[in-house]
Parts: sequence; structure tokens; C-alpha cells
Amino acid sequence: MTELYQLTIAEARDMLDQGAITSTELTQALLERITATEPQVAAYLTIDADGALAQAQAADTAHKNAPNSDHSPLRGIPLAIKDVISTMGVRTTCGSRILEQYIPPYDATATSRLKTAGAVLLGKLNCDEFAMGSSTENSAFQQTHNPWDLSRVPGGSSGGSAAAVAAGQALGTLGTDTGGSIRQPAALCGVTGLKPTYGRVSRYGLVAFGSSLDQIGPLARTARDCALILQAIAGHDPYDGTSASQAVPDYRAALTGDVRGLKIGVPREFFVDGMHPSVETAVREAIAALQAQGADVVEISLPHTKYALPVYYIIAPAEASANLARFDGVRFGLRVPDQDYRAELEHTRGQGFGPEVRRRIMLGTYALSAGYYDAYYKRAQQVRTLIRRDYQHAFEQVDLIAAPTSPTVAFPIGAHTDDPLAMYLEDVCTLPVNLAGVPGLVVPCGFDGALPIGLQLIGRPFDEATLLRVGDAYQRITDWHSRRPMLA
Ligand code: GLN
Repeated sequence: MTELYQLTIAEARDMLDQGAITSTELTQALLERITATEPQVAAYLTIDADGALAQAQAADTAHKNAPNSDHSPLRGIPLAIKDVISTMGVRTTCGSRILEQYIPPYDATATSRLKTAGAVLLGKLNCDEFAMGSSTENSAFQQTHNPWDLSRVPGGSSGGSAAAVAAGQALGTLGTDTGGSIRQPAALCGVTGLKPTYGRVSRYGLVAFGSSLDQIGPLARTARDCALILQAIAGHDPYDGTSASQAVPDYRAALTGDVRGLKIGVPREFFVDGMHPSVETAVREAIAALQAQGADVVEISLPHTKYALPVYYIIAPAEASANLARFDGVRFGLRVPDQDYRAELEHTRGQGFGPEVRRRIMLGTYALSAGYYDAYYKRAQQVRTLIRRDYQHAFEQVDLIAAPTSPTVAFPIGAHTDDPLAMYLEDVCTLPVNLAGVPGLVVPCGFDGALPIGLQLIGRPFDEATLLRVGDAYQRITDWHSRRPMLA
């Protein structure tokens, strides 16, 4: 029999609706699974068992009073949230010492929308400090392990969000993606993850890293489950001036299983030097499988791809250096007191921020400083426009783009810790999508030994529906997403 923690959200929904299980039973099964596997995986920074059980009880009562839950498919479903997204009354650390004791007085819009949808929130998930990293090794608190091979990283920065889904510690999670942080860990942990279009999901209550790049999105076992979560969190929010007013389509209705006639572009620049051959093979086979289902596949060029990495590593640190200025020991989090205000500021920030965050603040401050602004920041913004245009031109020819997600499978813990550049290179296939502001979906498409590989599907702005349709169609004909790691 399938254990309850192994269910997809759609399967759990059916069982809840049929009265075969209650949300309380389901939540208890997840909490037990968390207890059993956390010593190996270490995905959670905070587990809110009492809160989760109270929400499950409320969902069960709501079900009794009004059994037809079709209008709220997440009711009673246990989910968890990356620790950079504010949760009222529940500690939100951003993986940083500086916010170790911070308890937000309000919910992020994504959090409150999940609550309104009736979801059960199990707790908060580990990540790289302030979402800066590609391995979750930059968390100030703990190392999350890849459930497929505990000696390897889960990817990052949403490593906890991906590992929790892979390990059966939540049926779905929220992550954030500024330069690949949903998609790369989804690929490395063998789960499905979606970075929505910039502006599709409100950033209100998300602790800002790179404000022109950050997006919140779902991770789950299937594209269908991601559709259910996206449906709940997407849409305009008056509290976020960059959230889009475009209507939110019915994502479930888009899952027709039919890819016939869709034109898929394969960008030659994404198959970079140094890519693991197993990754290239699995991705090309996945594309061939979609072609066999009736999609048209053509090779395309996104000529400015090679500039995405340098451009991102100027723009993101520049924005981060400004965003993190608010952590001054006065309003938020840690304060290391001193008679002298300047010294207090230095001690607080020096002790509160880890090495990668300090490196980003220095890089960003430098790029924005007088005399260098034009040479670095302005120039990077100009090249960003060229990257964005590559995608506009491509989408005149094709309906979506299919590509690798990460050049490698999950690497051993510690492999890149002394080499920031090698770590940044992890992001070559994901960064351009954030710079262009377009959506990206990752679905599992194979393995190298025990280690998962992810196919990345990139869409037109606000066309998450097509990505989810293709991801779901692919999952109807393959079973990579159904495999589970062997854990306790
Ligand atoms: N790895 C990238 C970075 O360190 C992306 C992080 C993210 O998407 N949050 O900046």
C-alpha cells in the first residue's frame, strides 16, 4: 500500500473528498515521516506541529460542513514554506544568524493565500542564507542532504523545499527563484518545480534578495500539483506594486495531455562546455519523447546566453546590497550592542551575516559606487535588455523552449565551497530566465546512477499554462517523477 506521505496532492485530494482519510490523519503521517527522516535529510528549520494539527482539524471540520471542496483543492493538504517567506507568529530566519529569532508580525501574501485555501502548513524549510547559493551550504544553521544520496547537496537555494518533497516530508512546498533557486534544486532532487513569470505571484512578505528577479513558486511531485499550488498563490496584490494585474487562468483546465502542434525550441547555447554527458542525453531524450507525442522541435539560438552569468552576478548583488541595508540591528533581528553607533552596526552586520552574504554586499556596493556604476551596473542592465530580446525573438518562432536545468547532477557536499566561481557556474542554464522575467518549469527526466536529472521548459510571459500542460503531458508518458529515494 502507498504510504500517505507518498501521495501526490491530487491523490490526497481524492482520498480526502471520498472520506477515505482525514486531513488530521494525513498531517500526522507527514509529521511522523518528518521525525523519521529529519536526522538524515535536515530540510526543516522550524516544525510547527501544533499549528499544523490545528489547521488540519479546521480543514476536517470545514469538510464536514461543506464536503464539495472543488473550489479549494488545497484544503487539508500538508505543505511547507521556504524560510525566506514570512509566516505570522512562526520564526522566519532566512537561513541567517541575523534573523535567528525573528518572528514576523504578518503573513506574506503567498502564505496568507495558502491559508485561505485551507492548506496545512507544516513548517519552514532550510535554504542558503538570504537565498544566496546553489547548494544550501550557505545556511547558517544546518546542511540539508540530498535524499537520493545523503553525501550530496540538494541544490539551492531552495534546497530544503526540494529535499522535503523528495523525502516525503511535505506534499508540496514553496520556494523562491532569483537565479534558479526553485528549478536547480528541483532538478537535483528529482521533483517538479515552477518559477512563475516575474509579477505572477506577489512578493509581499518575501524577504527581498534581488527585487527585479525574485519570484515565489511551487515545488511538488508533479506538474499537476504545481498547477494546484500556483492557482492558489497567483494573482494581483495591491501590496506589491510589481505584481501583475493579468487575470489568472484555470491551470487545471490547461492540463489536456495534448502537445500536438506545439513548437518547441531547443537553444544550442544551453548545452555548455563541461555539461555532464548524462544530463545532455537525458534532456535530449525527453525532448524526443515530446516530439514523438506530436510536438514540433526546432533548434534555436539565444545568442546572449553567455552574458547571463556575469550580468546576473552584478545585478543581483547590487540589489541585494541595497535590500540588506535594512538589517542594521535597530529594526530587525540581531543587535550586537556598542556605545558607538557605527561600531554597533559593524559588529551586528559582521557577526549576523555569513561569508557569502558579505561577499555579495561588497560586490554589489562596489558595482553601485560612484565611478563604477556606469561601467558595471548600467552596462549590466543594458545587456539584460539584450537577453530579454533574445527571448522575445525566440517566442515569435516557438511556443516554448526546452533545455537542461543544471549542467551537472547533485555534487558532493563541500565540492565547491572554496570556489565561488564554480558554484556560480551551476546557474548558467537558469539565470537567463530570471533576467528575461519569463516562467520556467522543471520536470524530472532521468537519472545518472542514483542521481536525478531535470528537463527545463521555458515559456512566454504569463504562459505558465502551456508549461504545465507540457510538463503534465510528459509525466503521463514517463515515470521519473514517481520514483522515490530509499530512506529510513
Ligand atoms: N544560485 C543563485 C545565487 O546564488 C540563485 C539564487 C536564487 O535563485 N535565490 O544567486
